[in-house]
Amino acid sequence: MSVTQPANQIEHLRRIIREVPDFPRPGILFYDITTLLSDPTGLRIVTDHLAERYRGQQIDKVVGIETRGLIFGAPLAMELGIGLVPARKPGKLPFQTITESYDLEYGSNSICMHADAIGKGERVLIVDDLIATGGTLAAASKLVERLGGEVVEIAAVLELTFLNGRSRLGGRPIYTMIQY
Ligand code: AMP
Repeated sequence: MSVTQPANQIEHLRRIIREVPDFPRPGILFYDITTLLSDPTGLRIVTDHLAERYRGQQIDKVVGIETRGLIFGAPLAMELGIGLVPARKPGKLPFQTITESYDLEYGSNSICMHADAIGKGERVLIVDDLIATGGTLAAASKLVERLGGEVVEIAAVLELTFLNGRSRLGGRPIYTMIQY
């Protein structure tokens, strides 16, 4: 099948993302992007699609959420000719960090960024693989805003619309390529 047309490209991505039932827990359908990455065109399609959307929007930094947001964020930042900032789990970043915690169904998670990673007034695009409850991306948005950055948009390859993650993201602009 040709993957040159945008509609065909999205259809191609849908086909190459593996759906794994009952991972990591019974009842969860896990969208496995490793099969997108191992496809010869998958990462190219995602990168070109997002670069097309954000080129010319004066974005200063791409923030990639560990780990899969960094995989998609790195080639996108290169393509846009701008810098990449990792948002990582606690204890991974070596310099001075800022942290945001957010609630999970059971317990909580935290995400960190280097305190000097975003400059005041910088226009930031946040990238992750998937929006589920939106908690991770809401925390990453707060980190960017605490450093004085502006979240221009939050982009993800996949969105689980039935979890209504958008409601947690406080009206910040969101773009997703594939919705379930
Ligand atoms: P959340 O904070 O609930 O939006 O969860 C977002 C993170 O959890 C994303 O970065 C995904 O990598 C991962 N995640 C959550 N649910 C799934 C799922 N059903 N399939 C694959 N990844 C998921």
